[in-house]
Amino acid sequence: MVKIEKEHRKAASHAPPPRWRHICMPGDNGVMERKFEELGLKRFDRVLQSDEEKVSTKIGSEVDFFIKEEAIDKIILHSYEMGLEGKEAMGFLIGDVRRWKHDYSIAFDAVTGSLDSTPYSVKFSRNAFEELFDKLDEIEYEYIIVGWYHSHVGYTSFMSNVDIETQRKYFNKPFHVAMVIDPINMEAKAFKLLNEQCIEIPYAIF
Ligand SMILES: [Zn+2]
Repeated sequence: MVKIEKEHRKAASHAPPPRWRHICMPGDNGVMERKFEELGLKRFDRVLQSDEEKVSTKIGSEVDFFIKEEAIDKIILHSYEMGLEGKEAMGFLIGDVRRWKHDYSIAFDAVTGSLDSTPYSVKFSRNAFEELFDKLDEIEYEYIIVGWYHSHVGYTSFMSNVDIETQRKYFNKPFHVAMVIDPINMEAKAFKLLNEQCIEIPYAIF
């Protein structure tokens, strides 16, 4: 059983949230469309067959997830490049949990591994996770895993039952987030568990 370590900390350090550049609100894809354009990513046609079923999610209003621009660019580019090959991307979000009035998560990097994906289906194998954990061992600064990301190639960003299962199993702390990127529809959405239920949350890019 793969175990996420370093997630237990005595207390979140006190620090004000970073000054953000963009806020991505659920239901408004404007920031992402501009971001894809800014990164020079052209629309392409490819929709992977997927049996991932959309689960309806409620929407949170509090902005308590902040991601560094370089980190979100990295996961968008990873998702895009894998998408061009007809493959899904996956990785971990590396950061910290801090407190300012309430706890918030901050991601300043993302770690990816070469995934065992085929053009037809990509399931998260234990191998994929273990490979990522090996990569994490190489990081020399102090961090915690604040969540994970993966891509849906052309079938929109949402959390499927399988994704929610993964969240419940590995990322069930209040600060854990999940990002789902669709490089074709140019979406990047963030989700988390609240009282066991998966909700879509707004997030800030700094
Ligand atoms: Zn998924």
